[in-house]
Amino acid sequence: GKGIAVFTSGGDSQGMNAAVRAVVRMGIYIGCKVYFIREGYQGMVDGGDNIIEANWSSVSCIIHRGGTVIGSARCTDFRERAGRLKAAHNLVSRGITNLVVIGGDGSLTGANLFRQEWSSLLDELLKDQKISADERAKYKSLHIAGMVGSIDNDFCGTDMTIGTDSALHRIIEAIDAIVSTAYSHQRTFIMEVMGRHCGYLALMAALASEADFVFIPEDPCVNNWQEKICHKLIQERSAGQRLNIIIVSEGAIDREGNPITAEKVKQVVVDKLHQDTRITVLGHVQRGGNPSAFDRVLGCRMGAEAVLALMEANDNTEPCVVSLDGNQAVRVPLMECVQRTKAVAQAMADKNWELAVKLRGRS
Ligand code: ADP
Repeated sequence: GKGIAVFTSGGDSQGMNAAVRAVVRMGIYIGCKVYFIREGYQGMVDGGDNIIEANWSSVSCIIHRGGTVIGSARCTDFRERAGRLKAAHNLVSRGITNLVVIGGDGSLTGANLFRQEWSSLLDELLKDQKISADERAKYKSLHIAGMVGSIDNDFCGTDMTIGTDSALHRIIEAIDAIVSTAYSHQRTFIMEVMGRHCGYLALMAALASEADFVFIPEDPCVNNWQEKICHKLIQERSAGQRLNIIIVSEGAIDREGNPITAEKVKQVVVDKLHQDTRITVLGHVQRGGNPSAFDRVLGCRMGAEAVLALMEANDNTEPCVVSLDGNQAVRVPLMECVQRTKAVAQAMADKNWELAVKLRGRS
């Protein structure tokens, strides 16, 4: 059978284990040899025990666990050709020419580069007599299928990234817990949530928790945000509300591009309204805990689809990302999505928020 390797790379997210499990089981089911690569690209470069064959039961009892049981890492070696040469040797010597990468846009970019270089890497291995001419011919093309694991939902080309739904659950649990104490003491709470330059988690959390105000990177507040927020908080309190909740996305900025931090917001509320105000920074709690049912099922479906995509690939097939389109698992061109995701980051840096939002939407 064909050799497939699966690995997780970059930041972890809930549901990655479900995806790994689906790749292993679907691969074995259709007669492939499936390998785990531990610690992302680092394991691919280092080889040895980091690349091990998986069997049916080696992915039992992982679907309900957060994070990634096969480990993830950031790897500088893989950014250099010398590292990628070692990685290619480690794969070819095990008969692996199919990769399933679960990670963010950086990890997918690395995979694409690896595939582009594959031919020349094999030529170099042949020249150095690390592989035979037979092996050079047999393993001539590398196939890649990606899945996006990220709690931020910041990738263009999929409606949901694996882990976002679980992170949102974690945030809502935390806000619900804060609300009960805020109610008792008539406090105002400012919650900082993750998302880098994507406001998805903050916006959805605000909707689901009945927050009074939300700051997100894609919609920098008009310059008088200080007045607007005070007006809103006073309005709520005079309508009988005992508490206020304000959500701040970690990437929130004003029109000048200056960060809007929980600290800045607190200063305004305290100085102008003299409300008893507290900050809660949720931090890595959002990445932790068990994956939601949605993320488990998403990982299962995407993992199975990724294996099918690899099996159908020929020498000319471009790498794909398995993504969610409405309720369908579909294959979309990997590099197009990566480039669009990078264009969003650039548009945000250029303060062209309208373009950023447009690029982020469905094409
Ligand atoms: P994410 O995948 O979550 O965006 P990173 O950007 O940190 O996370 O990328 C994860 C790893 O992918 C890096 O540590 C590196 O090994 C590899 N990688 C990222 N970008 C490239 C690149 N341009 N060329 C080669 N490898 C890369």
